[in-house]
Amino acid sequence: MRGCVMAFKGGYTGKILEVDLTTESTRSIDTDPELARKFLGGLGLGAYYLWRYMKPGIDPLDGERNVFIFMTGPLSGTPVPAQKNAFVFKSPQHGGFSRGHQGGNWNQELKYAGWDGLIIKGKAEKPTYLFIKDDEVEFRDASNLWGCGTYATAVKITKELKDPFVRVVCIGPAGENLVKITTILTEFHRSGGRYGGGAVLGSKNLKAIAVRGTKGIKVSDLDKLMEVTDAIKAQLTGPGNAFYQTYGILYWNDWANAGFGFNYRNFQEAWVPPEKYYKVSPEFYKRELMFRKYACFACPQHCKPFGVIHTEKFRGMAMAIEYEGTANLITGCGITDFREGLAATHLADDLGLDYISCGKVVSFAKELYQRGILTKEDLGGIELEWENVDAQLELMEKIAYREGIGDILAEGCKKAAERIGKGAEKYAMIGALGGELSGSDPRTPEWDWWVDYMTGDRGSCHNAGETIETQNMRRFMDSAIVCFFVTSAGYGIIDPSYHVAAINAVTGWNLTVEEANKIGERIWNLEICFSIREGFRRKDWNYLPPRMFEVPLPSGPHKGFKLDADKAKKWLDEYYKERGWDVETGIPTEEKLRELGLDEVISEFKSLGIL
Ligand code: SF4
Repeated sequence: MRGCVMAFKGGYTGKILEVDLTTESTRSIDTDPELARKFLGGLGLGAYYLWRYMKPGIDPLDGERNVFIFMTGPLSGTPVPAQKNAFVFKSPQHGGFSRGHQGGNWNQELKYAGWDGLIIKGKAEKPTYLFIKDDEVEFRDASNLWGCGTYATAVKITKELKDPFVRVVCIGPAGENLVKITTILTEFHRSGGRYGGGAVLGSKNLKAIAVRGTKGIKVSDLDKLMEVTDAIKAQLTGPGNAFYQTYGILYWNDWANAGFGFNYRNFQEAWVPPEKYYKVSPEFYKRELMFRKYACFACPQHCKPFGVIHTEKFRGMAMAIEYEGTANLITGCGITDFREGLAATHLADDLGLDYISCGKVVSFAKELYQRGILTKEDLGGIELEWENVDAQLELMEKIAYREGIGDILAEGCKKAAERIGKGAEKYAMIGALGGELSGSDPRTPEWDWWVDYMTGDRGSCHNAGETIETQNMRRFMDSAIVCFFVTSAGYGIIDPSYHVAAINAVTGWNLTVEEANKIGERIWNLEICFSIREGFRRKDWNYLPPRMFEVPLPSGPHKGFKLDADKAKKWLDEYYKERGWDVETGIPTEEKLRELGLDEVISEFKSLGIL
């Protein structure tokens, strides 16, 4: 192990913590410098270990045999803006690869505790939480936390450990109840998305992981690192980034409603009509509700604006909101007043529900109610009108606790539609791998959301990327782990060369942007291969609801617009060729896998008869 530690000039601690919940034992694994250079960290290194640890066909909710992995990146814990957490798992919702990224400070604390990552195996006998304090790991009884919301869980653990600086990730009751549209939370509102990570931890009886680190980190060239850090900060706090500075990610609402496809009523419209828009606009939020903005570790963009909830339930409590929360759980569900809508996002976070998928499931149910496919009786007495926020909150509780119709909806739109029948499938807003679409309507000529939704590596998702280049570079950044809202590979303004320079300063490497792109391509291919190994093929990705191709937008900036299925198919054929994948099946060719150095994948695909 010592040899490996010495091999890193900075950016890595040289150790990954493996925890077995069944035997309550731990093991330290060396971080392999060659693997670090190949997969970087975060998403990439996590995907590599998931590929190795999670053999095909394992039930993602078999707590004994499934694996959940958190990884830090080479920049974690340095002053470089803007860092996140990264975790990977096999999705219990769709059965393919999934990943999550959340803000906060947990990831950096894990690095300060001396670990490059955390691999969780096995199943605890009873509700448990882990407390990692530097090299020590405690398996603590979580019986008193089981059933608690994510807010109470974090507070209780912090009190129990008598340390205000401890960082906590946890699941809510929905994860405990193995609801498939769950996520994990940290610092109250930092949600990690998507496709069932909360349920995977629930299947392991693992309520939370608290971390406290007191060790430093090693940096190869501190002067250079500070120079790059200052250059990034200057841009993020400069006039070119004023929109984020003023409204946080909420500024997208204006942009989306002006033609980029703002979800309204389960995509029955791609904008909120002008007479209803003001109360879900960033301007209204800032004037009436916002009292502060919050930042993740080392981030001067502080993009999460907190506002005060006005509904009877949760009155006076604080909630941070952004675009996807608005577009899925608020306007997507027909609510057009932030003062009420915040209650829905607040509840989703407390229950541990992924607010994108949860929003889509609720709006799906609302549209079925509108069309008479679901009745008040089916819904256990709920009158699920579009603007009725109390009815929505009641339905969300039913989903989290799997009560009545909630037990069906807890499976996600695809499986719920299959069980409900009566033509419900038409109204399930799903895409790649059967995952829910995010908050933007793909029926817009302004942005190719349909590519994100039909090719997404973790299933349908807005952050996949609209071109091969953006897809690759975003996965590199997810491995670095740099926030999507800061890098220009995502929705930010910082050119990738800055974060590549920062990685070089930390590690002592001489990585180029071209190599970074290649690393991203390798990671994207590995994620796809994980799902291919589980049996998915091109047809499982290339799906959009019929509405997107058949129903022109009834009003708004792009009234009359719909997607062209033939054009999309042709574009996708070219995409598969350019990716070096078989156009029919979507399986990467041996040549492409070899070019990317994924020889392990080639061997396994050959042994399984996939290649
Ligand atoms: S841009 Fe926002 S989400 Fe991203 S790291 Fe900064 S504060 Fe966090």
